[in-house]
Amino acid sequence: MAEVLVYVDHADGAVRKPTLELLTLARRIGEPVAVHLGAGADTAAVTLAEHGAVKVLAADAPEFTEYLVAPKVDALQAAYEAVSPAAVLLPSSAEGKEIGARLAVRIGSGIITDAVDLEAGDEGPVATQSVFAASFTTKSRVTTGTPVITVKPNSAAPEAAPAAGTVEQLDVTVADSSKGTKIVSRTPRESTGRPELTEAAIVVSGGRGVNGAENFPVIEALADSLGAAVGASRAAVDAGWYPHTNQVGQTGKSVSPQLYIAAGISGAIQHRAGMQTSKTIVAINKDAEAPIFELVDYGVVGDLFHVVPALTEEVKIR
Ligand code: FAD
Repeated sequence: MAEVLVYVDHADGAVRKPTLELLTLARRIGEPVAVHLGAGADTAAVTLAEHGAVKVLAADAPEFTEYLVAPKVDALQAAYEAVSPAAVLLPSSAEGKEIGARLAVRIGSGIITDAVDLEAGDEGPVATQSVFAASFTTKSRVTTGTPVITVKPNSAAPEAAPAAGTVEQLDVTVADSSKGTKIVSRTPRESTGRPELTEAAIVVSGGRGVNGAENFPVIEALADSLGAAVGASRAAVDAGWYPHTNQVGQTGKSVSPQLYIAAGISGAIQHRAGMQTSKTIVAINKDAEAPIFELVDYGVVGDLFHVVPALTEEVKIR
């Protein structure tokens, strides 16, 4: 059976959920071989094996943390040359997309980004994308070289499938040309204790209707009762009520959670572009004519300052 390379997104060996989703999708087209770069490969291998990785190719080098992504591309290319895979899958994070694009150029392959589903096809893997602000769903396949595909978080439910997960060291030589940009400092963002926006299973977003930074705790309280991430429309971000890192939409982040709750958001096309692939969409808006109601699964016409706290209390009781 053909092998499929899966780039592992992790924090010191703690494997992030989007990688487990990739392993699940990889099994539809071949045998997943995970590529773990950086510290913690042995810890990660346990989780990777539980989710179907037949092998874990591991490499650690100071250059992975000292420079931007190019040294990791060297390592992924080494894995590609060692395995000759049927496809290379990466998460659709900023890093995943940059590494995938650089790899595709180097190996002369086509790339598909932001896939929301993946299936085996007679002539190679077929990826589903949601395009033009989610107005269309397309199915595509790479026709040149080995397909490189980045997949959006929450595109598949991670499934356990025990496999060997044998760790093998990968020989990597970081090219001088990959040391063009050195990282001079890192400032971790203060943790909110909430899940990362693009990975969260539930997102609660607030818009202009929240009417001030001082009211965003209403949105945060509902998010916390559900274990959700907090999002915001551009109107709320431009007004300085919430950080840009939380903006959902065309010029913000693209999310695809199981549940998306939009409170006080009208549903402009640029906002939809970032959330329309959510599995279940709920909107709370006092204007029954708001365009967001065209795409919701459940809509509540009402004042968010009444509806959201009532919902929070109800969730807390259950
Ligand atoms: P509004 O459109 O003003 O809607 C506010 C809504 O809140 C209204 O429907 C109102 O009925 C409702 N409301 C008011 N008070 C209450 C209340 N008490 N209870 C319940 N409901 C209430 N936007 C994004 O979000 N993300 C992007 O990434 C993005 N990128 C853009 C890129 C470009 C190039 C451009 C041109 C625009 C972009 N926009 C983006 C902006 C977008 O066009 C909209 O202006 C924006 O999404 C509107 O935000 P909003 O829905 O919060 O505000």
